[in-house]
Amino acid sequence: MAHDEAVKFEAESLGSGMLPDGWSADVDVTGIVTVSGPCPTCGGDAWGPPLPTPESAVTAESLVVANRPESQPHDQLRRVRAECHCGFEHGNDGADGCGRWWMVNVRL
Ligand SMILES: [Zn+2]
Ligand SMILES: [Zn+2]
Repeated sequence: MAHDEAVKFEAESLGSGMLPDGWSADVDVTGIVTVSGPCPTCGGDAWGPPLPTPESAVTAESLVVANRPESQPHDQLRRVRAECHCGFEHGNDGADGCGRWWMVNVRL
């Protein structure tokens, strides 16, 4: 899918769903699930979960805890927040994507 730069930036949720076609999921050594694939809206690179930054340390920490397997001992379905990071501003100065985000359910 080619990237569509004409898509207008909008910070909107696309809801949640299972891992879309063309997406891949991985588990790192600490048990954190990461997902990546093409943005359903603009076709650029999208991935999750968001990388922790100093400003978002608290949020990132709670996100990491929620992502660990022991917090969901009864099933292996994980919810990962994925965001568009296509590298284009889509008309919004400083943005690195079209603003879309969604929750991906990953069954391991
Ligand atoms: Zn894009
Ligand atoms: Zn996008």
